[in-house]
This record gives sequence, C-alpha cells and structure tokens, in this order.
Amino acid sequence: MENCIFCRIVAGELPAAKVYEDEDMVVFKDIQPIAKIHLLAVPKEHFKYLSELNAERTALVGRMLEKIAANAPAFGLADGYRLVINQGDSAGQTVPHLHIHILGGQKLGWE
Ligand code: AMP
Ligand code: ZN
Repeated sequence: MENCIFCRIVAGELPAAKVYEDEDMVVFKDIQPIAKIHLLAVPKEHFKYLSELNAERTALVGRMLEKIAANAPAFGLADGYRLVINQGDSAGQTVPHLHIHILGGQKLGWE
C-alpha cells in the first residue's frame, strides 16, 4: 500500500532498525519503545485487522508466532516476552498494517 509506513519499511523505502527478515515478515525496533526491548513484527502482506484473516493469512500469522518464539533468545528475550496486537482506535492502533509488538528485556508490569 502506497501510503502505509510499514509497507514502505517492508519495501526498504523507509529506514528501520531491522533485526530479522524472512519471506513472511520483518522485525524491527519500535522508534518509541515502551520497554527496554520493544520490537515490531510486521507481515510483508498489508492488512489491518485480524478480522481480515483468511486461511493463508492465518497460516502466515501462525508462522510469525513460531518464528518470533524461535528467535526470542536472539532478540535478547530468553527470559520471556509479551506480544501485543492493537486492533482499532480504542486499543490505540495508530498504524493501519497489522503488527505484533514484542516487549521484554525487563520485568513487565500489568495495568
Ligand atoms: P500501534 O499503536 O499498535 O499501531 O503501534 C504502532 C507502533 O509503531 C508504535 O509503537 C510506534 O512507535 C511505531 N512506529 C511508528 N512509526 C515507526 C517507524 N517508522 N519505525 C519504527 N516504529 C514505528
Ligand atoms: Zn501496509
């Protein structure tokens, strides 16, 4: 999508501190981290909502979760991590391209 910031990062048109990339996704550092380690896992395909999942996208998100788990130690998250997917305005979704926040590197509180 032309004006989507995450599509532009995926395409290499905008810089990002990438820590992982494969055929399904890129993982890069959030520019406004809310934890000591705050990464974003972004599928290369543009869609906004989990309600837009079909069989292919469900498999894609499943592979993303599998690879996040496999790479957690390499991301510095061997002690644990939290995944967050904001959906819609009330949740504070600001980027209209599905993304998984990966939070850790510290003891995380729960509000
Ligand atoms: P959300 O509020 O769930 O839509 O999360 C969007 C996240 O993207 C926020 O945590 C932002 O700090 C982050 N973000 C926005 N633009 C960039 C960018 N160019 N590079 C890295 N992270 C970004
Ligand atoms: Zn996009």
